[in-house]
Amino acid sequence: MTRVPILNFHSVGDDVLPFDLRHLSTHPKVLEKSLQWLNRHDFTTISLEHLFSHLQEGSPVPDRSLVLAFDDGYLDNWCFVHPLLKKYGHQGFILVTPEFVPNETEVRPTIEDVWQGNLSPENLPKRGYCNWEELRAMHEAGTLKTYSHSMTHTWWPTSSKVVDFHRPNAPWIPGIWNENPIHEKPYWMTESSAEIARKLPWGAPVFENARSQCAPRVFPPALSNHPMVEYVRKHGGEDFFKKPGWKERLLSTQTAPAESVPRESQEDYETRLRFEFGESRRIIEQEIPGHTCSFFAWPGGEWNETAQKIALEFYDATLTTQHHVTISGEDPQLIHRLFFGQRSHELTGLIWPSVWKFTARLLQHGGHSKARIRNWIANRAIGLGKCFLKGNRNYR
Ligand SMILES: [Zn+2]
Repeated sequence: MTRVPILNFHSVGDDVLPFDLRHLSTHPKVLEKSLQWLNRHDFTTISLEHLFSHLQEGSPVPDRSLVLAFDDGYLDNWCFVHPLLKKYGHQGFILVTPEFVPNETEVRPTIEDVWQGNLSPENLPKRGYCNWEELRAMHEAGTLKTYSHSMTHTWWPTSSKVVDFHRPNAPWIPGIWNENPIHEKPYWMTESSAEIARKLPWGAPVFENARSQCAPRVFPPALSNHPMVEYVRKHGGEDFFKKPGWKERLLSTQTAPAESVPRESQEDYETRLRFEFGESRRIIEQEIPGHTCSFFAWPGGEWNETAQKIALEFYDATLTTQHHVTISGEDPQLIHRLFFGQRSHELTGLIWPSVWKFTARLLQHGGHSKARIRNWIANRAIGLGKCFLKGNRNYR
């Protein structure tokens, strides 16, 4: 039985993603060493279309095949992943959310400019999202093809139950996206964390919520003039959260009963799903002429039966992050991927454990038994490495 694992990266850079997103980062050196290892061991990266036709129709694939996926459309995929794939003769795909794609048309420098001596590594842009020019360039180069990762990639409230509050040490990022103009979405990572967090007033309630694609949403009153926000404003703003018992005090201000919040009908939920699927595909195909955007990756890897049924009106297949390799005979329209992110930027002087982790995961899911020992050693070394962190190191 041929097994073709999809290894799923997110950010590949030498700068840490802000807030609690460190687990999504991989150091470029880890990717480079992994690509070198693939070449030494005769692995072939195949396209997602190729894998799909293998799963659906049994089209042959090379013996040692894998697929590389990069979620969210981070700018560092352009700066590091694209040049590295080109250098080592590999390919993959990038999952893009159109609302996060900036409008600028400037093509930013990449690590190639550093290799050629035209730029110092400190001057590489690091945070943000790829723009359409860069996505087109990667498509034309054959390094990364663009598929859809929804229109909004957000969470919406599913009830008026308050589960948390937007506060200095726990900013509610989806609230920042949802409550500010859409055109600001691509830039949420490029400002300072403190500035971004202030785009939503302190004390804004975080309601019980779900991924946009997973449930009908409710429409609570606007967060910016919510009574809880008013209460925090009157009682010290940012300092309010330093006082013990702040949570109970804030919760006691809640007056509106849960039933009073308007709820989306099933029909409106399905219309919204069609927007997430259809509009993102339409924009990607409009921006990358000649490209057929036939795959969709679930944000956060979450979906339900209704969403999958509607997604298949627009796409050949959807992609999960369920830790599994889809094989012939299984549903070819629901393709699973293996998450790979090792906080490896923290292992700046110790890249090899993360590379071993990558190779172990690949071998293990490709059906090689010895990979377990390799995985064990990698995990131990990663654990040990965390005790001797040296801070970030620029990649050259
Ligand atoms: Zn995502």
